Amino acid sequence: MSDPTRDNGVQLRSALDQVPAYVPGKSASAPEGVTAYKISSNENPYSPLPSVLEVVREAAGSINRYPDMAVTELTQVLADTLGVPAEHIATGTGSVGVLGQVIAATCDPGDEVVYAWRSFEAYPIVTALAGASSVQVGLDDHARHRLDAMHAAITDRTKVVIVCTPNNPTGPMVTHAELERFLDAVPSRVLVVIDEAYVEFVTDEEAPRSLELYRDRPNVMVLRTFSKAYGLAGLRIGYAVAHPPVASALRKTATPFGVNSIAQAAAVASLKAFDELKERVDALVAERTRVVELLRGQGWFIPETQANFVWFGLGERSGDFAAAAQEAGLTLRQYGTDGVRATIGETEANDVLIQVAGDFLAANPVEPPDTQATDTDDPR
Ligand SMILES: *Cc1c(COP(=O)(O)O)cnc(C)c1O
Repeated sequence: MSDPTRDNGVQLRSALDQVPAYVPGKSASAPEGVTAYKISSNENPYSPLPSVLEVVREAAGSINRYPDMAVTELTQVLADTLGVPAEHIATGTGSVGVLGQVIAATCDPGDEVVYAWRSFEAYPIVTALAGASSVQVGLDDHARHRLDAMHAAITDRTKVVIVCTPNNPTGPMVTHAELERFLDAVPSRVLVVIDEAYVEFVTDEEAPRSLELYRDRPNVMVLRTFSKAYGLAGLRIGYAVAHPPVASALRKTATPFGVNSIAQAAAVASLKAFDELKERVDALVAERTRVVELLRGQGWFIPETQANFVWFGLGERSGDFAAAAQEAGLTLRQYGTDGVRATIGETEANDVLIQVAGDFLAANPVEPPDTQATDTDDPR
């Protein structure tokens, strides 16, 4: 067997040395006799809508043909749905694909990308792939973005700032007012990406009205996906809403024919079936509220979450908690010694989570962070 790290003479880019491997959520597994639930990747627990599946079956009949490279119908339906010009829409293979297009369109080696940390795992990867540098700005004690610190981190080399709202994996969003103030302060040469992968789950009235914020700011774009609320994670489709010079750059940096025909058809069908999907989103949000209240009632400090997951900032005990959950059939997502994220899944999975969390806390009392002590303290 050859050693994959051995130099065989092929000259690979040195930038690859800086690319961290994406750690995917583990597959479900459980001890014998225990039901397994995969709540490690923020997927939608519901199977696809019958109407969407029907469209997928029909589209499968034409896979001998290339897809529509211009993604014409979906682009138009998105433009109509969002109330934006069709030229402002750019699609990609998941919003991770679109984000790669963003970095490819903006960053030369040595350029900087500013984002909060912890945040979405794909950010360091797409940044390093371009040979650009990540500038990670720590979250505050409530696991929220520190937008002032992110602004202060902008240098002459900064090409992109990513704001993940709600933040994966911790849950909190930034408010409209905070984001507006931040955008007003960021130099107009810096592209700000508002990553709203979980926007459909947001219920807080102070949430950013991102399409309003991007409208008059050519350096602001919105990133969205069909992977989470729409339940199409396996088809790989996401999109950006951006002003023309940026949107057309994203079309140039896209993999030609990247968004496949089944994904295009399923996305159109899902937008048309949104009322039906919304019922599922509402049910998941209700479950989120129930889970958070019960966990807090047990004594856990759970940061405010506006997404379809909850964060346990367990530090050194992250591994123990993930292992205890696994014993009970729950596959969670562990982030080293930072914490553990659990996706809101089917009710049965959520019930097991509450049980496991209660038992764990009883056996291992967790010190609340100092910030929790003062309840007059505004969590944002
Ligand atoms: C899941 C997620 C995405 C979406 O990924 P896709 O490539 O569209 O599946 C984007 N951003 C964040 C923060 C996410 O958590």
